[in-house]
Amino acid sequence: MSMAISILNGFTCNARIPRTWQTGTVCLIVESNRGPVLVDTGLGREDYSNPTWFTKLFRIITIMPFNPRQAAINQVQELGYRPEDFKHIILTHMHFDHCGGLPDFPHAKIHVVRKEYEAFIHQRGFLRAAYVQRHIAHKPDFVFYEETGDTWFEFSAIRITGFEPEIWFIPMPYHTPGLCGIAIKTEAGWHFHCGDAAADFRRHDIPEWSIRLILGPYMPRLREFATDHPEIRMTASHMFLDYFGPSAAANERQP
Ligand SMILES: [Zn+2]
Repeated sequence: MSMAISILNGFTCNARIPRTWQTGTVCLIVESNRGPVLVDTGLGREDYSNPTWFTKLFRIITIMPFNPRQAAINQVQELGYRPEDFKHIILTHMHFDHCGGLPDFPHAKIHVVRKEYEAFIHQRGFLRAAYVQRHIAHKPDFVFYEETGDTWFEFSAIRITGFEPEIWFIPMPYHTPGLCGIAIKTEAGWHFHCGDAAADFRRHDIPEWSIRLILGPYMPRLREFATDHPEIRMTASHMFLDYFGPSAAANERQP
């Protein structure tokens, strides 16, 4: 079986200042022994057709192309999958821009660390307004995970059992109480998706204080890890648009 990973941009969100800061939202499709697994969903169809007040507010603060083609459900269908092929979705965390697409995959079990689910339900964390209850109104099946004392390299880690290739949660709470990175062992080596614990590793023009404030204390350690492990592919959730390839950047850039 090929254990490839595809990378989608599930949601483009650009800063007003500086306007050149145009970022997407990494969603992964992992080919596994249990079918294709989606890691994060971006926004869902209803977020476009009937936006919540929070999305409306976010559209004022940031610049969003707000193109419904970016909904994961539309992208996976363009790639030839059926929605029901996705029996499993893994979440880095439950902010609106990472799990808004859950209602589009009603057949999927949702794998998430328990702390994150509880923060979502009880609206905890300094960015709690980004938890949108509507995103689980369809009452999906959840599978919850707790810390086990295991490690992946030097990080504490939780194995998501039953999947080949190996998939691990790497808890890095701060941005949300249950935020995780996701480590996946592909044939080409490890992919360490750091979620919202890191900013785009290729960029050195993002002020460290703003990374510390929004994403937490992990970036210096993750940069060091990246230097020590050039064989590991590392991504952050909000990679700049050029990461997703020229077509994505061209389609989603605003005039
Ligand atoms: Zn995010």
